[in-house]
Parts: sequence; C-alpha cells; structure tokens
Amino acid sequence: MHHDVIVLGAGLAGLSAARDLAAGGADVLVLEARDRVGGRVEQVRLPDGRKVQVGGEVVGRAHTAYLGLAGELGLDLVPSYVAEPGRITRSTPEGDSAGDTPHWFGPGDPALHERLTAEFVAMAATVDPDDPWSHHQADTLDRLSVGAWLRSRHASPAVVRLWEIGQLGLASGSYERTSLLAALRKNAAVPSSGHYDYEDWEGLRLAQGSATLAEVMGEGLAPHIRLGSPVTAVDVRPGRCTVRLLHGETLTAQAVVCALPVGPLRSVAVTGVSDARLASLHRQRNATAAKLAAVYDEPFWRTRERNGLSECEGVLGSTWPQAEATLSALIPPERYGVLLSTPPHLRIPELLAEVTGMFGEQAARPFAAYLRLWGTDPWTQGYVTQWTPGDVMAVGPLHGTHEPPFYVCGSDQWVAGYMEGAVRTGRAAAEEALRRG
Ligand SMILES: Cc1cc2nc3c(=O)[nH]c(=O)nc-3n(C[C@H](O)[C@H](O)[C@H](O)COP(=O)(O)OP(=O)(O)OC[C@H]3O[C@@H](n4cnc5c(N)ncnc54)[C@H](O)[C@@H]3O)c2cc1C
Repeated sequence: MHHDVIVLGAGLAGLSAARDLAAGGADVLVLEARDRVGGRVEQVRLPDGRKVQVGGEVVGRAHTAYLGLAGELGLDLVPSYVAEPGRITRSTPEGDSAGDTPHWFGPGDPALHERLTAEFVAMAATVDPDDPWSHHQADTLDRLSVGAWLRSRHASPAVVRLWEIGQLGLASGSYERTSLLAALRKNAAVPSSGHYDYEDWEGLRLAQGSATLAEVMGEGLAPHIRLGSPVTAVDVRPGRCTVRLLHGETLTAQAVVCALPVGPLRSVAVTGVSDARLASLHRQRNATAAKLAAVYDEPFWRTRERNGLSECEGVLGSTWPQAEATLSALIPPERYGVLLSTPPHLRIPELLAEVTGMFGEQAARPFAAYLRLWGTDPWTQGYVTQWTPGDVMAVGPLHGTHEPPFYVCGSDQWVAGYMEGAVRTGRAAAEEALRRG
C-alpha cells in the first residue's frame, strides 16, 4: 500500500510528527523497531500502580514545545526534584560535602566561578542557536573545548572540577571533550542568568509519568503504527520513496520523515539524498549513558537534610529524587566502560553502595531497582547529543534541516537533545511536510 508519509521511529519525535501529519489529513504509517513506542522514554509499572521512569524524565519551563504538547494531551506538569528541600551532595574520592560550595574550593574560587559563569552567559548571548555557524568566531570557538576555554580565562583547577562534575552529572561528555561553541549554543537555546539553570532545564515533570506522553500519542495513532519493524533501507525519489524492513518487506510513500537516533541511522542504507546530507547526519554522535532507578519505602535522604541531588566522581555521575521515594541516577559516558566491565550481578549493588556512602544504609535496600544500559542498546546507541571540538562545524548548517521528500527530526536534530528537541523537531518536520503537500 502506498502512503502519504512513512515515519521512521516511534520515539517522541516520530510520534509528534505522525500525530500532526495525521491531524493535517495525511495518510501516515510509523515504523518502529521495538515492540513498544517511546524510544528513550520508557516506564516500568510497579504492582502498586506507581510508574518508574527508566529513560527521559524531567523538563524545564523553557521547553515550550514539550509543555505545549503536554497541554494539548491533557497531561499535568508538577515541580520536579528541583523543589525538594535540603542540600546538594558532592561526592569525590577524598570525601563528601553538602551545600552549594564544594569541599575542594579555596577562598578565591567562588568569586572566580561566578565571574566565569557571567562571561560564559555573555558569550552565549552572541551565538544564534539556530545558526551558530554564522558567528564571526565560529571555527575558533568550535575547536576549543570548554575545559581549555576555562583555563584560558585563568580558571583554577578547583573551578574546572566544579564545571566538570556538573557536566558528568548530566551524563553529557566531559567538558574536556565538549566544543565551546556547542556549549554556548545550548545555553543560547534556553537563555537564563546562569550556566545550565536547573529550573529552566529540569524544574518540571509530568504528573502521569514522563513516558505517558509517548503512550498517549501511541494509543491515538495505534492503527498507523507497526511495532517490531526495523528499517534497513530507504530510497528517496520524488513521488515515490521506498522503505525496506529487516524481514524483506518493502513499503512506499510520497515522503519519509526520519526520526531515528544518529547511531542506529548509520546502519540504514539511505539512497537518493545528497552526499552532503548523509555526511552531515553520519558525522553526529551521542554521549553514551546508563540510568539507575531505585524505589524505596521512604525518602530517607531527607533525614540527613539532603535533597537527594548529588554530583559524584564514582561510577555514578549524579542522583536525584524522581518521585517521593524513588531515586534516579546516571552513569556518564566517561564511566560507562567501567560499568560494562562489572559483572552484571554486581552492577546494581555496586552502584547502590555509592549511594549508601552519601545517604546512608537504607540506600542499599530498595524494593525494586532498574538499570538501563542505553549506551549499548542497539536502537538507541547513546543517550543525548554530544559535540566534541570540531563537530559543530563538521556537521554544519544542514543540521536539523530537510531535503524533501526526506524530512529529518529527533532530539539529535536540536541543539542539545532532550525531550524538548524531539517534540520541537518532530512537529516542525510535520509542519514542513504538510506545507509542501
Ligand atoms: C537515561 C536517559 C535519561 C534522559 N533524561 C532526560 C530528561 O530528564 N529530560 C529530557 O528532556 N531528556 C532526557 N533524555 C533524552 C530524551 O529522552 C531523548 O532525547 C528523547 O526522548 C529522544 O526522542 P527521539 O524521538 O528523538 O529519539 P528516540 O526516543 O531514541 O526514538 C527513536 C525511535 O527509533 C526507533 N528505531 C531505531 N532504529 C530503528 C530502525 N532501524 N527502524 C525502526 N525504528 C528504529 C527506536 O526504537 C526509537 O523508538 C534522557 C534520555 C535517556 C536515555
């Protein structure tokens, strides 16, 4: 059967695109490799009805596309862990501290950190997030890592360490391997007074559970979605695009919306689009990460006047309260190999031992714990966009653009990944495809 549009991938981007395409009157088919929708958002249901998020979880007040879609679907946003009372914990090999000032800071470091943050924010204001390539120093800024820039501005090792522990807490790639231009672009996309303001990026979550957004869209689109259908080849021709599935079946459509992550996309043979576009798409990379979610009887971290939020230098990069008595944690790309080398039956206990060191013995005894290795999941191969020095210029201005009848979306096609990137680019791709008929 010939369709108007075939959408590749049923993550938030593919679902958002397909929903708008169907609403616009298009005959749309979504092809999804897994046996569920949602991609990098996924939830586990406990017997008592609680939902545990093992993928994407929180959004910020600046994530307008996501917030708008949630509103349309009748879903409610509530404050996230950012509203949790208590102090942040920083855990390093030489000890732990609670509170804003890290234990490794000397007398001059707080002022230095503040000055460099202000400089970074001012520089970010000079970058157009939609067109960072037009910056008069784009090439220079892209070649420089954030770590190298900090040192060039006379940051002390203590200040560099604070920026780095925060970056690995987000499970993004190390600031020693992150393009300054990419970091400025990310900040410019969500302007705020600080450097990664938690309220702007992470202050909200869906009361019904993050993955419910995908599930609701999936239910609405059910007759148009084929699960268990990995795509292996796409041939793009005006008026007739052909999509081949792993088991050999071929399907045709007027247009294709590609909502696949950049890793799995490399294994799909795409023909009929320009070499420049393929080179750009295949030049992108993702940071790899794993997520741990542990469910307890009570939020025991509060007894130590901690808010459950931590930045760590163990195998863990961070923890935060996902819900009343559930802790989430991320294992960043720099430490992902260490996690993989750990015998599977020891992974969760060893990670929980790190949490125990910060918040007490109760951390070792969750009644349920889930560890999801997203970095090596064949249908994800990553976690969030990563831009090492040189990547912004190498990927170039084709990033996030379309070559009709081949449309591109997905969080990897926004400045910095995130659920916002998926929804925003998915809806934009649908709008463009509908506009072109
Ligand atoms: C552990 C973790 C925590 C995160 N935390 C947050 C957070 O708190 N806040 C936030 O905003 N973001 C977070 N993110 C990022 C966010 O979840 C993602 O950026 C977003 O959900 C990606 O959506 P997408 O549709 O672009 O891609 P995906 O969700 O990856 O969807 C792509 C779909 O394509 C399918 N697919 C792949 N290959 C093929 C193929 N060959 N054929 C057919 N289908 C294929 C996949 O199965 C998948 O369903 C997190 C991500 C992870 C992994």
